[in-house]
Order: sequence, then C-alpha cells, then structure tokens
Amino acid sequence: MHRVTLVSGDGIGPEVTAAARAVVEASGAAVEFEKVLSGQEAERATGTPLPEAVFESIERTRLVMKGPTYTPFGGSYRVAVERPGPAGKKERRSYPSVAIALRKELGLFVALRPIKNYPNVASRYDRVDLLIFRENSEDLYVGNERMVDENTAEAIKLITRGASERVARFAFDYMRKVGRKKVTIGHKANVLKLTDGLFLKSAQDIAKQYPDIEVDQRVVDALCMELVIKPETFDGLLLTNLYGDIVSDLAAGLVGGLGVAPGANIGADCAMFEAVHGTAPDIAGKDIANPMAMILSAVLMLRYAGEAAAADRIDAALTAVLAEKKVITRDLGGSAGTRAFTDAIVAKLKNN
Ligand code: NAD
Repeated sequence: MHRVTLVSGDGIGPEVTAAARAVVEASGAAVEFEKVLSGQEAERATGTPLPEAVFESIERTRLVMKGPTYTPFGGSYRVAVERPGPAGKKERRSYPSVAIALRKELGLFVALRPIKNYPNVASRYDRVDLLIFRENSEDLYVGNERMVDENTAEAIKLITRGASERVARFAFDYMRKVGRKKVTIGHKANVLKLTDGLFLKSAQDIAKQYPDIEVDQRVVDALCMELVIKPETFDGLLLTNLYGDIVSDLAAGLVGGLGVAPGANIGADCAMFEAVHGTAPDIAGKDIANPMAMILSAVLMLRYAGEAAAADRIDAALTAVLAEKKVITRDLGGSAGTRAFTDAIVAKLKNN
C-alpha cells in the first residue's frame, strides 16, 4: 500500500484534489491518502501554511499529491519553515511560496511536465508531444532578492554546475527510458553569458554521454516563437527554473490550456505531483474548474509508484469521457462542472 500525503491547496485546489483522489480511489490503486492541514486553512489555524505535521507526514510517505497554493503578488510575504539543517540542528529557513518551500525542503530538483494533445480536447495545434524538464532548485525563481534602497530592488540569479548537470542527467536518462529522441536546451547565454552560459555548457557536457539522443539549443525567446509556430518539431525541452515556469504555461496553451497540463516534482527519494496551474481565484468554489490537470498529475504519481495498471485504467476512462463529448468542462467548450466531470470518469472506472 502506498501512502500519499495530500496537500489540498487553496482556491480551486480542494476541488481538483478531491477529484483526483476520487478517481485514484476508484481505479483500484493500492494508495491511501493522508490529508494534512496546509495552505491558507493552516495559516489561519496555526499561523503558517506549512506546519511541521506536513513534513512529518511526508517523511513517512515520500509521496505528495499537491493542489495549487496561494502566494500574494509583491510585498514581503515569506513562508517560514523550521526543520533540521545539514548538521541535524533545527534551522529556520524562509521561501517566497509554499510550492517553492516544499520543492526546496524535499530536494525535488526537477519538474517534469508532459504537454501533449488529448483526444477531443480542441486546441490550435495537433501532434504536440513535449516533455518539459525544468530545473527546480536555483536560478532567479528561488526569490533571493532584496531592496537595495527605497527605489531599487535586486534579485540574485545563481546557477551551479552541480544542479545543471543533475537536471540534465535526469532529462537525458528519462528521454532514453521512454524512447524519445531529442532534447532542446533553452537559455539566454547570449546575454547571461556566465549563468545561462554555465547551464548550457553543463547540459551540453552531459549530452555527450547520450549519443543516442540528439541535442539542440535555442535562445529562450526564439524558442517561444518557434513553439507557437511549429510545436510539433520539439520533443524534450530542458530549461532553467524561471524559463521553465514561463514556457510550461505557454506550452499548456498549445494543447487546450492550464486545465490539461500536469506535473511532477522529483527528487532522489521523494516526489510531489501537482498541476502546472495555480489557484485560479476567479473560478474557485464554483464547481467549474477542470480537474483534468490534477487527475493527470495523479496518473504520473501512480506510474512513479509502480501502479501502472491503475494509471492506464484512469487514462482510458478519461479518454473515453472526452471521446463521448457529453460531459466536458467549460474551459474545453462544454458546460459540465468539476464534480460531474469527475463522476463521469469514476463511473467509467467502475463499469470497466
Ligand atoms: P492560475 O493558473 O491560477 O490562473 C490563470 C488562468 O487560468 C485563470 O483564468 C484561471 O481561471 C485559469 N485556470 C487555471 N487552472 C484552471 C483549471 N484547472 N480549470 C480551468 N481554468 C483554469 O494563475 P494565476 O492567476 O497567475 O495565479 C493565481 C494564484 O496561484 C497565485 O497566488 C499564484 O502564486 C498561485 N500559483 C500557485 C502555483 C502552485 O502552487 N504550484 C502555481 C501557479 C500559480
């Protein structure tokens, strides 16, 4: 039995994680969820969105299913965590968001985001099938910034060879394992010659150990342009943390939007599964969010946990519901609510 820590998240998080949980439970997978108090609900009750009990649960399970969590724009909001440091002594560390705190504290060094066309999900493109590998631990995205004076702010972009090689090795290993052919490295090494230059060089060095996989590189702005013109020509994308964040949403837009883009954050011995999208405050609590991205993240979790048969059953049930075109969420052109869409998938799982 796999135990999974369930972080429901904020906004649409509780709705889409409840959907994913119901589908996993109906699939017959040997999974038991441990729901923890977290996010805004925990902040109101305990003063922090990440109480110690969240980490206690994850230490037991090493598997997390996470809904999106709220982070205010601007201001000085930080998420503080008090946990043992490398020397074993309790240390206080702080992060710009709950998601970043979890990724960093749990050593989840890569975000893997598969982006592909789904049958009967309308989009501007067909034949899109991308595997995005986003470095998850450094770069500007860790939010190491400060006010220099009242009118000047600075952020530090830190890139290391170690983290760059680690994510590149993961990407090339993964591509080889799933029989894929080409990795395109996205960077801005023309201007950020030292930081992005180091990421590019490190990734190219690792690529030499994988002669069976073609390696290519693009300046990230040109990569965005090519992605919206001919996305079907790309296979794997390897990106630093910030570019990976931005390109993931762009890529979601190629195949039907944020409602269909799943993700996995993976480390050496722990993994956390969350959709690419955020808390969608504009639609929260209205039973209209598309739970598909969260359900597909749960499918990635089941595959990671060795529950391939249950993952295949969910994929088939989801595909069948989409194919029938009767119960489709609003973002994909239908009128079904989150619960009705989930119920349709659960019914397919129970009948097959
Ligand atoms: P968002 O992804 O929440 O929303 C962008 C747009 O996409 C909105 O119009 C929203 O309604 C729509 N959308 C998103 N998910 C959808 C779904 N499942 N079904 C249908 N429509 C969907 O991005 P945002 O507005 O920039 O961010 C809102 C909050 O989410 C912020 O606090 C942000 O920090 C947080 N966020 C969290 C995570 C995370 O926890 N991993 C990721 C991204 C954003």
